[in-house]
This record gives sequence, C-alpha cells and structure tokens, in this order.
Amino acid sequence: MAEPLVVVCVDGCEPEYLERAAAAGCTPYLASLLRAGTAFTGECVVPSFTNPNNLSIVTGVPPAVHGICGNYFYDREADAEVMMNDPRYLRAGSVLAAFAAAGARVAVVTAKDKLRRLLGHGLKGICFSAEKAAEATQAENGIDHVVARVGMPVPSVYSAALSEFVFAAGVKLMESQRPDLMYLSTTDYIQHKFAPGSDGANVFYAMMDRYLARLDALGAVLALTADHGMNAKTRADGSPNVIYLQDLLDGWLGAGRARVILPITDPYVVHHGALGSFATIYLAAAERDAVRARLAALDGIDVVLPNAEACVRFELPPDRMGDLIVVSGTHVVLGTSAARHDLSGLDAPLRSHGGVSEQRVPLLFNRGTAGISGRARLRNFDILDVALNHLESDAAHRSATGVAGR
Ligand SMILES: [Zn+2]
Repeated sequence: MAEPLVVVCVDGCEPEYLERAAAAGCTPYLASLLRAGTAFTGECVVPSFTNPNNLSIVTGVPPAVHGICGNYFYDREADAEVMMNDPRYLRAGSVLAAFAAAGARVAVVTAKDKLRRLLGHGLKGICFSAEKAAEATQAENGIDHVVARVGMPVPSVYSAALSEFVFAAGVKLMESQRPDLMYLSTTDYIQHKFAPGSDGANVFYAMMDRYLARLDALGAVLALTADHGMNAKTRADGSPNVIYLQDLLDGWLGAGRARVILPITDPYVVHHGALGSFATIYLAAAERDAVRARLAALDGIDVVLPNAEACVRFELPPDRMGDLIVVSGTHVVLGTSAARHDLSGLDAPLRSHGGVSEQRVPLLFNRGTAGISGRARLRNFDILDVALNHLESDAAHRSATGVAGR
C-alpha cells in the first residue's frame, strides 16, 4: 500500500449530522469532502445495530455470512439467551486479519470494549478499546501504555470523550507507527441524545473534524461510514413511543407462550433503555400466521415477516433468528414487557435505531472514486472495497477538485 488507509465507522451517524454540521460552519474539513463529489449515501445492514454492521464493514459481507446479527440472541441448541459478543459466534474472517496475515501493519481502536474481541479476532496487530485503554497489554492488545501514549485520561463509557479518545489514539498511532490499515469505531452516545444540527451534535462533529483533518494532513487515505442512522422515537409529548411485544403476546396467547428477543440488548443500556426498532419472536408454528397478521395491523409496525422471508430480505442467519421478525416504524421502538425496561436513565427524549428507517448511512472519501458510479446500491460494508480498489491517487484528486494541497 502506497498510502496508509484509515476507515472510520462513526456510530449512529445519520447522513444529516454531517450535512447540518457542515452547513453550520462547524466542520470545515468534512465540508470540503462533501463538496468534492466523493460523498455518497449507502445502506447499512438491518437490524441497524452496532455489532452486525461493524462486523459487516470489516468482513465485507452481510450477517448471513459472518453470523453476528445482534448483541444478544436466543441460542436454540443451548436453550439460553446469551450475548453474541464472543468470537466463537463469528463465521467469517475479517479483511483486517487477512491484511495483517499478509504482512500489513494493522491497528484497530474501538470506543466500547464489547466490539474489541470481535473486530480483533485472528488479527496480528494492535487492537484496543478506549473503555479499557488502561488495561491494554502487549500480549493481549499488541500495545501497552496506551493512556500515556494518547495523553488523555480514560473517559466514562457514557461520554462523547470515549469517541474522542478513539480519534486521538488514531492520530497518535498515525504519527508514531504509521499503520498501513487502521479501523476506528466510535460510540453513539451523542447521537442517542442530540438531533442533527443541534449544538450537542455539532460540537461532537467539530471535534471529529479536527482529528480527521489531522489524519489527512499526515497523508492518510480516509474512508468514513456509519454502522446505522438514528431517529427520534417519541410521541408528541416527548415520551418514548414503545410497543411492548411480550406484554401483547402474553395477553393474546397466555403468559410465556411466546419469547420476544431484542437484539439491541447489551450491558450498556442507559442511553436507550434496550429499546430499538427490531425484534424477533419465538413461538409455536400453529400460532405464527395469526400473530403475524395481528402485529402487522398495529399502528407503528413497519413489517412482520416469517424467518425464511426475513432472512432472505435482510441477509440474516436463519438459525440465529426467531420465527417472526418485527420491524417498527421511524418513530416507534419495540420492547419486551414494560416492567423489564428501566427507563430511569433516559435523561433526554429517546432516540434509537434498529429498523429500516435507520438504514441510510454516509460513505465519504478524501480521494476521488472510480468505477463505482454504475452500482445500483452502495452498502456500508462496501467501504473497504471502494477504499482499496476504487480510489484515485492523491494528486489526481487534488487537481480534479481544486482541494488545496497539504
Ligand atoms: Zn451503533
């Protein structure tokens, strides 16, 4: 590789965040990329959640192939509801690991530790999270003394600073070690709280802009995308707009006859209360058609599909999904039972994701693209292919767009 490549996954980055921050004058560097004709809108994987999409981005394939379709699932064989953050659930190797195996120097920095082991599986290189930066060791993470190297204290897991740590670490790594391929993945703490164009959002994107400009100045090829978008999920009065599926099904069929699984469930639920726009239901074959029809008729439900049909449409692994798949509308989320969701941590009107309504994501490059204009549909997991195989050289891009030289 002639130039280092940095792929950035901005968690929850609805394209409007970039447009509004640029229009407000908060992000001069990103604004220059948006003007240069190398910004596209693509689609993420549904369920529009963090782990399935980060894994799609680094493997280049949908969950039907790599196996990670949520944070949490019902393991039919083990008859247990379990987290899906263990690498043993991965069914595909990553492009990152393949580059490292071929001799490239690879570095991965994530905000939350939940992603680190999945992204770093089989990878010979640097891989650590901002959350557990203080515990990084040469043996486990390929690097030590991370906090001193980055020069920032370890931030709270619920903070914008957790993402800033990722960018600061990326810049330090580029300055000191110049990896050939780097993957930076942030957290959507800000996007869950602040709408596009709000001060809270614009301050975050201004911070990001400064680090991206620095990476560009260091000579890196930049490719930016998102794991999913984000929407307000509230009623007119600001309260969370929730359909509690387990309560409904218990009422219709009798208690415990159906099992509702919310793949958004993870240990970090303070900012969304484990409420997203995607759910899957396990229930007896004889009841499926009737339940499907009743759910589909509810206000706020986008689509209800049987397992086979949903897994074809959304490219999901059938053995890790329930008998019905339910997607709610733009401003509606799905819960299990009202009693099982602790919403006391929500200190702002609920914003969340998971559905088809959060599928639009940006794809942005600091080089001109070639040979992708005929593609009917860009996906966020095309980003490595485009960045590695369809970008012009730095000089060609700058002369074509008039973007100032470094
Ligand atoms: Zn996310």
